Amino acid sequence: MEVYEGKASFKGIAIGKIAEMKKTETVVRRVHVDNTEHEIARYHAAKEQAQAEIMELHDKALKEVGEAQAEIFEVHSMFLDDFDDSVENIINEQSVNAEYAVATTGDNTAAMLAAMDDNPYMQARQTDVKDVADRVIRDMNGGSGHGNEFTEEVLLVADDLAPSETVSLDKSKVLAFVTREGSTNSHTAILARTMNIPALCQTPVPKEADGKLGIVDGFTGKIFVDPDEDTLKKYQNLADAEAEKKRLLKELKGKDTVTRSGRKIKLYANIGGIGDLNFVLENDAAGIGLFRSEFLYLQSNDYPSEDEQFKAYRTVAEMMAGKEVVVRTLDIGADKQVDYFKLDKEDNPALGFRAIRICLTREEVFKTQLRALYRASAYGKIDIMFPMITSVWEVERAKQLCREVQAELTAQNIPFKQVPIGIMIETPAAVMVADDLAEQVDFFSIGTNDLTQYTLAIDRQNQHLERFFNPHHPAVLKEIQMTIEAGHRHNTWVGICGELGADPELTETFVRMGIDELSMSPSSILPVRKIIRDME
Ligand code: PEP
Ligand code: MG
Repeated sequence: MEVYEGKASFKGIAIGKIAEMKKTETVVRRVHVDNTEHEIARYHAAKEQAQAEIMELHDKALKEVGEAQAEIFEVHSMFLDDFDDSVENIINEQSVNAEYAVATTGDNTAAMLAAMDDNPYMQARQTDVKDVADRVIRDMNGGSGHGNEFTEEVLLVADDLAPSETVSLDKSKVLAFVTREGSTNSHTAILARTMNIPALCQTPVPKEADGKLGIVDGFTGKIFVDPDEDTLKKYQNLADAEAEKKRLLKELKGKDTVTRSGRKIKLYANIGGIGDLNFVLENDAAGIGLFRSEFLYLQSNDYPSEDEQFKAYRTVAEMMAGKEVVVRTLDIGADKQVDYFKLDKEDNPALGFRAIRICLTREEVFKTQLRALYRASAYGKIDIMFPMITSVWEVERAKQLCREVQAELTAQNIPFKQVPIGIMIETPAAVMVADDLAEQVDFFSIGTNDLTQYTLAIDRQNQHLERFFNPHHPAVLKEIQMTIEAGHRHNTWVGICGELGADPELTETFVRMGIDELSMSPSSILPVRKIIRDME
């Protein structure tokens, strides 16, 4: 048995097989073969398997992210059908191995697509063709899918996970996340909280642990590789006790979030996309307080169209069946980079071109999102929230663009509702001018992750500064109090949607400060409800 210690970013116990996150990189050699028929048969067997996998991905995408995203897998399937002639010809004419023939076919097709200057859609499909070729090659070598499509539940180990990588994972198969780098404020940690599974970061588990049995202890920040019998037994008992605790919490489902003296708090959920909705419903959130809409952009290779976005927002609005859904507009930049935005490299990305600053500079991109949001508003109760606000003029301009979008929709006879408008309070500047901002909006939502970063001048991504990153710092708590008071002076309700909103040590403090709403990872909702219901 070996034990590796890191930092726990979400509590819990998980026992399962360790799987190293594979980064897709296929190296293919050209090998001379005598038996070409055998190579052609190997190709066809792998192709059949690849087609089945592509169909599975199609169905998963359809379920999780909708028809528009699923269509790409139909394109993959078509590309693969067109491979046959070229692959067979290369094997027969050059007496080479099937892997080489598939890779060459993939490269040639990609080159052909690259030359289609008059068809940007097909031009952009080069990476898809290569993805298809890689899949067939992996299947020929006994691999499955892109290497991260697990057939059993696993403890996923990686150097680090980018937000764009986590969206492509089959999350139902991940029991825990363990990263060698990363910080407890990273988006992987947030995802783990959403999924209610343990997560460790900065944990030096060696690559050789891949495939071995492991135990992740999200309470002490340890991972045990090849545990001995006693350890395994102890942790199995602990895991059973944890499950029992969860069962008890489920009993609180359907109950109001109200203190004994009758003060009601809106307990909402944070989500990154449609895939999180089942966690929201399972944990009985009264609404959605933060839909991080940028994940629609992170999981695409190009700007998501108005229709694609409309469908996602409509699905969330419909699934929440009349409950409030706060959609935060695009918060790209800083740690959330998207290639097709072609943003310049910055020395200080967290202080740079991000969120509302991008939206007010590239107004067409912003207006596409606003149109999709207003169209979806006809199907439920949508609120719009702007991130990273520092000044009143930003809110005025964003609201002006909302009015322009409304006028366009009216002219086109497209139905929409008047939606409440809110802003994130996540910069010290916004706190200082909160009275002026409150006059502009219907609600505030305090983003404590960024508010801590900007107040303490500490990069939330920098793992070496974690001991200085203190969201309980009196300065942050004072800012929260000031924001609540300013909001209430102007009839503006105030919530918290940063990670601090779920901190059980502060729940009572926030309620006493007068907070109206707390929005958090779905897994925290029932424990926080219990604390509030036990309060006087
Ligand atoms: C925050 O900053 O607290 C917040 C909720 O936004 P994000 O974590 O997505 O930056
Ligand atoms: Mg933020």
